[in-house]
Amino acid sequence: MILNLIDQLKIKHVNIPIFIPELACPHQCIFCNQKKISGAVSSPSPVEVVKTIEEHLATINPNNSNVEIAFFGGNFTGLKKEEQIEYLIIAHKYIQEGVVDSVRLSTRPDYISNDILRLLSQYKVKTIELGAQSMHDEVLQRSGRGHTVEQTIVASKMIKDWGFDLGLQMMIGLPGDTMEKSITTAEQIITLGATNTRIYPTLVIKDTKLEELHSEQKFSPLTLDESVRWTSEVYKIFESGGVKILRVGLHPSEGLLHGGELIAGPFHQSYRELVLTELWHEELKHLAQNNTSERICIFVNPYQLNYAVGYHGKNRDMLLNKFRSVKFIPDAKLIKREFNVSYS
Ligand code: SF4
Repeated sequence: MILNLIDQLKIKHVNIPIFIPELACPHQCIFCNQKKISGAVSSPSPVEVVKTIEEHLATINPNNSNVEIAFFGGNFTGLKKEEQIEYLIIAHKYIQEGVVDSVRLSTRPDYISNDILRLLSQYKVKTIELGAQSMHDEVLQRSGRGHTVEQTIVASKMIKDWGFDLGLQMMIGLPGDTMEKSITTAEQIITLGATNTRIYPTLVIKDTKLEELHSEQKFSPLTLDESVRWTSEVYKIFESGGVKILRVGLHPSEGLLHGGELIAGPFHQSYRELVLTELWHEELKHLAQNNTSERICIFVNPYQLNYAVGYHGKNRDMLLNKFRSVKFIPDAKLIKREFNVSYS
């Protein structure tokens, strides 16, 4: 009971990310050059892992934070068992000391077995994220994923049966993908019982098979507008299914930000903001229709204010075409994209 109360008071969620790059992964999905995406070039040594954790912990107040060590990138359960155990022992020690609350990791659907789950359970891993990417075999096959939809379904069920939190990541705009397929992928992710997800638009990264296909004009990435539209459809589905969306768009690593590694595709530093701008646009566009008032005030949740106004003021400008004055006013009583309007 007391522990529950303490947990409730820990309001800030802090992730300590440890990147395990592609070296650990024997596969080569056509879109992936993991070391370029994560910015890491070799697996971190145990000493480096401890250093990363200590550096993060030094900036965190454990009394008001929920701290999670997250092994991202690559394919954690594809590492040699001894390496997995080495990393898990380090993370587990911080849990036992009470300075870290949980551990999460990401891996592939075809690297899940009862033996692997037994090991992860022993070291108190809480969340396992699978790169599902698509729930359509043709898309998986054309993307060189090397696993099937059925394997994602079986692995997800095993993870749930063992009592882990399940995360299922998806990509949009892979070869053979359509908006309808992305939507059914999101729906199936909900059906499989995922509590969290990440949505990644497909980018063409240097030194990947996709770069070759792109240069041979056999693959075209989505435009930024298309990608934002698809993502916003998928976003709404996850929201209504109660699945937490942990990330939208790719982490802007140095290479991508400086443009050296990104060949083509819908990359934007404020991708999530563009998606939320689009979702608010859908809500607000009706206000400009059939209305003869001159002024409009829109009350929104304070955390939604920027998105309601829109990226670079897009939604406010849309309303300014109709009204002489447009004001957005924060109202903490409203949640998510709820809003109230007053006209004068
Ligand atoms: S499984 Fe993951 S790390 Fe391995 S190639 Fe595919 S996307 Fe990259």
